[in-house]
Amino acid sequence: MIRTRCPHCKAKLEQGQRIHAECIAPWADAQAEKAKRAEAKKARAAAKVERASIRARKEAIKTIPVLIKEAQVAFNAYVRARDADKPCICCGLPLGAGEVGGAYDCGHYRSTGSAPHLRFDERNAHAQRKVCNRWGAGRAVDYRIGLVARIGLAAVEALESDNAPRKWTREELIAIRDEYRKKLKAMRP
Ligand SMILES: [Zn+2]
Ligand SMILES: [Zn+2]
Repeated sequence: MIRTRCPHCKAKLEQGQRIHAECIAPWADAQAEKAKRAEAKKARAAAKVERASIRARKEAIKTIPVLIKEAQVAFNAYVRARDADKPCICCGLPLGAGEVGGAYDCGHYRSTGSAPHLRFDERNAHAQRKVCNRWGAGRAVDYRIGLVARIGLAAVEALESDNAPRKWTREELIAIRDEYRKKLKAMRP
């Protein structure tokens, strides 16, 4: 290819000239700089692939209890955000404002201990002040009154009579966790 312009300064070359003599050094520097940037970009891409693979391997060895816990954390966080503007489900007081420890809980009507199959049921979980959830044994009677007001008697009775055990696969738990992470993200401005 016959070059008519200097690859460095882009000015016209004399016939037969490939580059201005004074442009050789800065051009070489620029080329080296470009190569370095390309190298760094490649390294970043490789690191990203490596991180994803580490993540996938870590995910692959997570046990069901670990995945249940992660899904529960995501579910609870979503419920707290969903109910952020509502009062406490059981006593009707404002959520957690001014309380020691700050944030309120995601309180399950039928507890995750006695009704683990309802642990991811949105009808069964509502924002609740910590004092009510943790030190009032969930205040079951008042919770029920608040719950009926919020989701209706039929839904409450459906929860109460639902004793069908659930078994989640690893994939299902991962899907639940990721879904609630996504739902939470979508709620945040
Ligand atoms: Zn030049
Ligand atoms: Zn309460």
